[in-house]
Amino acid sequence: MGRIRILPDQVANKIAAGEVVERPASVVKELLENSLDAGATDLRVEVESGGRRMIRVADDGCGMLRDDALLAFERHATSKLRDVKDLMSIATLGFRGEALPSIASVSRLLLETRSLEETTGTRIEIAGGKMLRCEEAALGRGTAVTVRDLFYNVPARRKFLRTEQTELAHIASLVTHYSLAHPDKSVQLTSGPAELLGVTPVATLRERVYQVFGSQVLEELVEIGEREKEMLLPTGEPDEPASRVFRLTGFFSRPQVQKANRNSIFIFVNGRLIRDRLLLHALSSAYHNLMPPAAYPFALVFLVCDPEEVDVNVHPSKTEVRFRHGSFVHDFVRDTIRERLMESRPAPSFSPGPRATPGAQPAARLPYSEFSQMIENEAPAAVSLAEPEPQSAVPAAAPEFTLHPAAGPAPRLDFSAPPIEVAPGPAPSGKLLRRPDTHGEFPPEAVPLPESSLTALSELRPLGQIHESFIIAAGRDGLWIIDQHVAHERILFEQVMKQRAAGRVETQRLLMPLILTLTPEQQIDYARIADELHASGFETEPFGHRTIAVKAAPAAVGPAELEKILFEILEIAEGELRHASLDDLRRGICASIACRAAIKINTRLDAGKMEWLLRALAATDCPMSCPHGRPIALHYPTREILKAFHRV
Ligand code: ADP
Ligand code: MG
Repeated sequence: MGRIRILPDQVANKIAAGEVVERPASVVKELLENSLDAGATDLRVEVESGGRRMIRVADDGCGMLRDDALLAFERHATSKLRDVKDLMSIATLGFRGEALPSIASVSRLLLETRSLEETTGTRIEIAGGKMLRCEEAALGRGTAVTVRDLFYNVPARRKFLRTEQTELAHIASLVTHYSLAHPDKSVQLTSGPAELLGVTPVATLRERVYQVFGSQVLEELVEIGEREKEMLLPTGEPDEPASRVFRLTGFFSRPQVQKANRNSIFIFVNGRLIRDRLLLHALSSAYHNLMPPAAYPFALVFLVCDPEEVDVNVHPSKTEVRFRHGSFVHDFVRDTIRERLMESRPAPSFSPGPRATPGAQPAARLPYSEFSQMIENEAPAAVSLAEPEPQSAVPAAAPEFTLHPAAGPAPRLDFSAPPIEVAPGPAPSGKLLRRPDTHGEFPPEAVPLPESSLTALSELRPLGQIHESFIIAAGRDGLWIIDQHVAHERILFEQVMKQRAAGRVETQRLLMPLILTLTPEQQIDYARIADELHASGFETEPFGHRTIAVKAAPAAVGPAELEKILFEILEIAEGELRHASLDDLRRGICASIACRAAIKINTRLDAGKMEWLLRALAATDCPMSCPHGRPIALHYPTREILKAFHRV
């Protein structure tokens, strides 16, 4: 007798469950997606013990006919695909027909459902993949799936579950983000008696962001609006369309909001929450030279395209996708966000007092996402996500935009620390179980947000300097403080980049060539980047053993700085060239020239110079941050000044 056997369904389902059901949040994800596919407008998620004891997702969707309800637990049973052709253009979130049988094989599951077409509903009970009961029941329209004791029959998996807090945070993050993807639906999440999220239908994403995160966070974000780009397809197949349209909407943070990991980046492709390196890279590139390389923004972006443009059948959990025209999509996302950043020029503001996020829903304070965490785990350089301390309740909110750590009740303009919050700090404990502020109507004053934009720079009146380093200026909307060095750095950086792109770098011959001695390693790097150096205005040539002669340099660079700059550039080459693109090297060279040539701090500037600096800064494409990602200007809005003086 042969040795190969076909596995019984029960075993096959358990194996599939290993891929589909990683943790309680994966169950919630599959059930929510089913509800959304069923056209539900009201989604209720209840969990107990972080979903380990109980998860229940109830919807008001189309429900299932009795026969379908039974079929749904067969492997590969789906109503969403008919043949293999459909796989090319999947418009639903589900399609594999694996979720229900997989979940049912590793839990005690109760399905209650009634379709509009039937007068009575169906109740089915399954434990560990075995059908226990199937009966008629008087039920309202829609579907409720209750999953108890996840992994009760797979002890090995149960052991891998994290603390209840962590699992709950994953679930909260997931439900929150699905609620953001569907502003037109009402979504509720409760954990035991506590409501973590409760949002009613609204007309726009902006209003949903307000409901979920509160007004303060909304103020810190830049809205993409609706941007689209058409891609022409090569004419070939007769039934192929001539072009495809890609659409991008959503919100992203100013460059000064800097996160230590990707936990605050949420990308949806055709309504599906995904993790995708291509899009993450596009997003980071949009912030190139606006943010330090190891920092990440907050982003909530929705890409919509023809289903045929994206293959969602890449991974059983459907969290990865493959684009048919990846580089087009990448550049579209990068350029759109970059353009919006340049248009809106968001200014970092002072935060005179503690900036809790009043009005944020408790769920929005839970930072974990199953998706981003998976990426964190994969990325070698990324910060590891430690298990939160059991007693410290919940780590800080995902989008907590404090520029300064709480500085006490009195407004203080504190320059001692860079106004960048990189790592999310612990939130005050006990927040988790607080009931959310119930938001009524969207307050009218929150609609046209007083966007503080660096466009105002061109109208500023410089008043003087602090420590001969920071320019104080008065504007129509409050007080501004500008770091003179980084401001000039930004001006020079863009100037040098433009000259470089046009192949017209102004150079200056040295009276005497500068002779530099290189280490063997530097010599290899030098050989590799010699052409790029030349194009950037450095005329160099080998000069005997391990030495080079520099005969000319970019005009902006003083002779005293030349040696430092060249070694700095060789260092970029050494550290990054092996991974970084030519474009990165070019930016690095320009940044280094700009930094060395810029006005230093501790330099007295007369009124004319300050005025010139502000005008020139206003004329740059990105006056928000220096090429290394530091903020250039801080804004203290009149509104905050009035508040601090108790005048409003
Ligand atoms: P898939 O979503 O990939 O089709 P599932 O195993 O998740 O596979 O679900 C199987 C089928 O059960 C679905 O195709 C759908 O017809 C039905 N179904 C599941 N959940 C619901 C729901 N909440 N409302 C209506 N129908 C549902
Ligand atoms: Mg499904």
